[in-house]
Amino acid sequence: MLENFNPYSSQNTSQNSSQTSSSSTPPKEVNLEGKSYKCPSCGSYLLFRKGRLVCDYCNYQTPLHYHPHPVEYTPFVHYPVAEEKVNVKCPSCGATSPLPERGIAMRCPYCKAPLLGEFFNPLKPPVMVPFSLSPQEAYQKGVEFLKSGFFVYGSFKKELQKYKEVTSYYYPMWLFNLNCYVEYSGERGEVRYEYIERNGKMERYERVEWYPVRGSLDLKFRNIGYIGYFNRRSDQIYLSRMQWNLAKSVQFQWEPLAGSEGYEYKIDNSTALKIVQGSLEGRIRNAIRRDIGGDRQRIWEYTKEWFDIQNGYLLVPVFHFSVKWRGKEYNVYINGDTGEVTGQKPINKVLVFFVVLIVAILIGVGIYYYNQYMGGNGGGW
Ligand SMILES: [Zn+2]
Ligand SMILES: [Zn+2]
Repeated sequence: MLENFNPYSSQNTSQNSSQTSSSSTPPKEVNLEGKSYKCPSCGSYLLFRKGRLVCDYCNYQTPLHYHPHPVEYTPFVHYPVAEEKVNVKCPSCGATSPLPERGIAMRCPYCKAPLLGEFFNPLKPPVMVPFSLSPQEAYQKGVEFLKSGFFVYGSFKKELQKYKEVTSYYYPMWLFNLNCYVEYSGERGEVRYEYIERNGKMERYERVEWYPVRGSLDLKFRNIGYIGYFNRRSDQIYLSRMQWNLAKSVQFQWEPLAGSEGYEYKIDNSTALKIVQGSLEGRIRNAIRRDIGGDRQRIWEYTKEWFDIQNGYLLVPVFHFSVKWRGKEYNVYINGDTGEVTGQKPINKVLVFFVVLIVAILIGVGIYYYNQYMGGNGGGW
């Protein structure tokens, strides 16, 4: 049914020649006819909402059909980032607007119509995780997160009432499966206890005996994700903490992007791989310590060799909501599939200080009375 108004059914090869531009030439500007899905009943545009395309004007709705498809891993090869600057013409109001860097979908800044672009990177996302939350549900979760907690300012909670909307994003995510062969040398410490008599009392002393060790490990890391796009460092930090249900991935299709902002990768997979490998250093050291065993471990040195690196690529759904308050911006991110919320909120430090102070005073008073009435000799504190 969707084929009737699928904007991609018509051949669109005019831009293909620009995809092969090398990095030595300045970035090309490409002008695209932006596409959106037309409502067959009133001619307005359709928006994606929770598994359907809907028309806000006449309430026309049509369900989408997904094709479940697992994330596919292929042996790692480097994929560069395209350089084209892309402008899209809105089919509703005719205005031309630049897409953000490596953007593939946005709302028209003038008439809010959803605009869909094209992929320019050499690798297109084969799969995506669609939104299962509606913007209203995401908004509720975001507000609950920001309001919860005793230490959040009352005036911040009030300011929140002015914000009624969340923006939906599709972010590109790299996934890696990696194996690592590690050879290490170090020492295993065994704790021995000795009892020595001092002033007529037996006292326990701890002594560590160190034994040199060498070993090797075959480590396997699976489904390690990295968002291949961010405008701000905070986005990356918060988004990389999110858990994704990869079992829900479906074949990529354009319809779920209608009304969202969407991006293809802006950070190439070689850069992402280096960052991911660096972030696994702690896990490698922990594995070495576990392998050394004993009560204490010392790592002298280790070498590592990465092999069998596999790469996957997909789009993941995120709702974002930011509140400006007292000159600062507080960002909240809601996983568009699982509803998991993460982000920042202002904590009333003065209130925290007083609560800590009061608790400290109460403990102090308690100790005083304990010593006065229960402590006997009173000198213990
Ligand atoms: Zn309509
Ligand atoms: Zn427009």
